[in-house]
Amino acid sequence: MTQTLDGKALAEKIQTQLITQVTAGQSQWGRPPGLAVLMVGDNPASAAYVRNKERACTKVGIASFGRHFPAHVTQAELTAVIHELNGDDRVDGILVQLPLPSHLNGVALLHEIDPDKDVDGLHPLNMGRLMRDERGLRSCTPAGVMRLLKEYEIPFVGKEALVIGRSILVGKPMALMLLAANATVQIAHGKTQDLETLARRADILVSAVGKPGLITAAMVKPGAVVVDVGINRVVNLDTGKARLVGDVDYGAVAPLAGAITPVPGGIGPMTVAMLLENTVLSYQERLGG
Ligand code: NAD
Repeated sequence: MTQTLDGKALAEKIQTQLITQVTAGQSQWGRPPGLAVLMVGDNPASAAYVRNKERACTKVGIASFGRHFPAHVTQAELTAVIHELNGDDRVDGILVQLPLPSHLNGVALLHEIDPDKDVDGLHPLNMGRLMRDERGLRSCTPAGVMRLLKEYEIPFVGKEALVIGRSILVGKPMALMLLAANATVQIAHGKTQDLETLARRADILVSAVGKPGLITAAMVKPGAVVVDVGINRVVNLDTGKARLVGDVDYGAVAPLAGAITPVPGGIGPMTVAMLLENTVLSYQERLGG
């Protein structure tokens, strides 16, 4: 029987735990945790993600200090806002919603965020801490994958894991986290030869590419754990209706996988839960020491 790894249910459980921690913090320190999400321009997907994050913040009692800038905002203006938020004691977490318009340098902006408020875990210092297995804020999507797999007691030690995708946001930190959990890890990417053979060896297969239907049944070892990070908007040409799908051909792969994450309801909600958790962690460390 295939196990469905229910990210939505676990995210709700984590949010309930966070409400308790936020309530305790509020009575101890007299203020709630604060998160500032910076959004530039009007990309509808980004706007939906930001709305989601702010709604989740409200649910657990995190105050939002988000700002929305027009697409023509300058690098200098954004840098100044980040510096202001770094110095604002009510703000425990800062994140810049990606992607940014092409005239802006997102990496340079990440360098400006105080590493202790870097709740997206993308500052080079936090990336370095991950590389060294040191404590630090971890990037939300791969952290969400690990948390979900741990919740279902998926074994990692000595297992062969394949991460497909090598972005700074997902693929690379994902591979490092699996390595830290003692899996034997490979990374595939757009230039990889014979993805099918590599994928068929994997006990744990993580796809973070952004191509619907990339992972077919022929690429999955029977009983493997399949994690679908991809989010793709697919429009039905007959009805004109759009729906979200992952990278995995779910209908064909689910019957032979040992465990699988759905899209939606898998890694998406876990990513938001990890963002909230990072914000509360940063709050507790900043105020509680
Ligand atoms: P990205 O475009 O930065 O990286 C995609 C990676 O896929 C690249 O490393 C590229 O080398 C690799 N790739 C491209 N074509 C390939 C192929 N045919 N075979 C193997 N590898 C190939 O994207 P990203 O930011 O890492 O995001 C990846 C996907 O995950 C997207 O669909 C994105 O929307 C989704 N995502 C989901 C969440 C979530 O919360 N669930 C969070 C972040 C990203």
